[in-house]
Amino acid sequence: MKSWPSPFIPAVPGNGLPVRVHDTASGDLCLLTPGPTARMYVCGITPYDATHMGHAATYVTFDLLGRALRDAGHEVLYVQNVTDVDEPLLARAHRDGVEWQALAAAEIALFREDMTALGVIAPDHYIGAVEGVPSVVKAVTALLAGGTAYRVKVPEGEGAPGASDIYFDLSSAPDFGSVSSWDRDQMMAVFAERGGDPGRLGKRDQLDPLLWRAERAGEPSWPGGELGEGRPGWHIECTTIALDYLGMTFDVQGGGTDLIFPHHEMSAVQACGITGTSPFARAFVHQAMVGLDGEKMSKSRGNLVLVSTLRHCGVDPMAIRLAVLAHHYRTPWEWDGEVLLDAQERLATWRAGLSGNGGPPADAAIARIRECMADDLDAPGALAAVDEWVSQSLSKGGTEIGSPGVVGRTVDALLGIRL
Ligand code: ZN
Repeated sequence: MKSWPSPFIPAVPGNGLPVRVHDTASGDLCLLTPGPTARMYVCGITPYDATHMGHAATYVTFDLLGRALRDAGHEVLYVQNVTDVDEPLLARAHRDGVEWQALAAAEIALFREDMTALGVIAPDHYIGAVEGVPSVVKAVTALLAGGTAYRVKVPEGEGAPGASDIYFDLSSAPDFGSVSSWDRDQMMAVFAERGGDPGRLGKRDQLDPLLWRAERAGEPSWPGGELGEGRPGWHIECTTIALDYLGMTFDVQGGGTDLIFPHHEMSAVQACGITGTSPFARAFVHQAMVGLDGEKMSKSRGNLVLVSTLRHCGVDPMAIRLAVLAHHYRTPWEWDGEVLLDAQERLATWRAGLSGNGGPPADAAIARIRECMADDLDAPGALAAVDEWVSQSLSKGGTEIGSPGVVGRTVDALLGIRL
């Protein structure tokens, strides 16, 4: 699938530091040691509604991580999926009386525009669930043959006679629980609201995830060989795309904290079941939720602040990006008018402070920005370092010719803020 145009990344003098991020699975900071190429997978959108600030925070955060890894001398191989067929998309299309393909195409196009405007580096492979169906069929067929997946008959009248859905058998997965470290009660509390079907009769364990959904009347389906006509479950889509494009034990699996369970837990155990090895990823990194009026911003609650709406109202996308950067990725925060005003003011100040030919020396500011970004993506710390340099430049000036340019290029390369 087509992604979007990546921004130009200016060169910064010197080298970045090895990057440390918080790994949800170990509960600790984890030094990334990827070798020449860092491999990163970030879960993409289900395209039934436009990019909201929670999405913006997630994709900007992993964009920062990609930039820090590049600065530390690595190539970055970045893969993102788009769940272009799934329950919520079909339900929304049905509600609105539109074709699900048309809805998905329109929302993916808007997402691309938002990512381009926010200066997010495009993934090397941007893969739709529909494109990934043959790979899912192969993986699920192998899991069935190996006895780690099983069939559950489709209730009479719902599908083709004799058709079965296919589930992953969690009792075959010793690694289950290793991503979230949640106990069973915690898992059961959110499983249904996050796409699971604990009440489905015939499952061996209420938490077993769906791998393949047999064709139902009025729903899209694809040939599944011996699985029968159907479509992939949500988690197996990411499992197989990640394995196909990155391989097992890649460096970073990313997404919002609402993906820790079941999505990342299930994606990981399924990959272990398919490959017979572990772990799926070396670090599981999660962006905290962005709220509005005291609630998590989400499509189901309908309390969304959309990137495209802000853009169409004339808000500079760099101010939106700065608003995200003003919050550490692991700290939940609330969107409000003040957050945006602060970011707009900071952007204007930076532009003024970085517009001259000379200024204070740049070295200490660049080193500080690098330290902050390598230290668990401390974007607020990096912003403070730029604030300080700009404040000195504006109040005292400086004699180092070219330093505003070097600081500006560093802000562009490491923070993705174009001035
Ligand atoms: Zn995913």
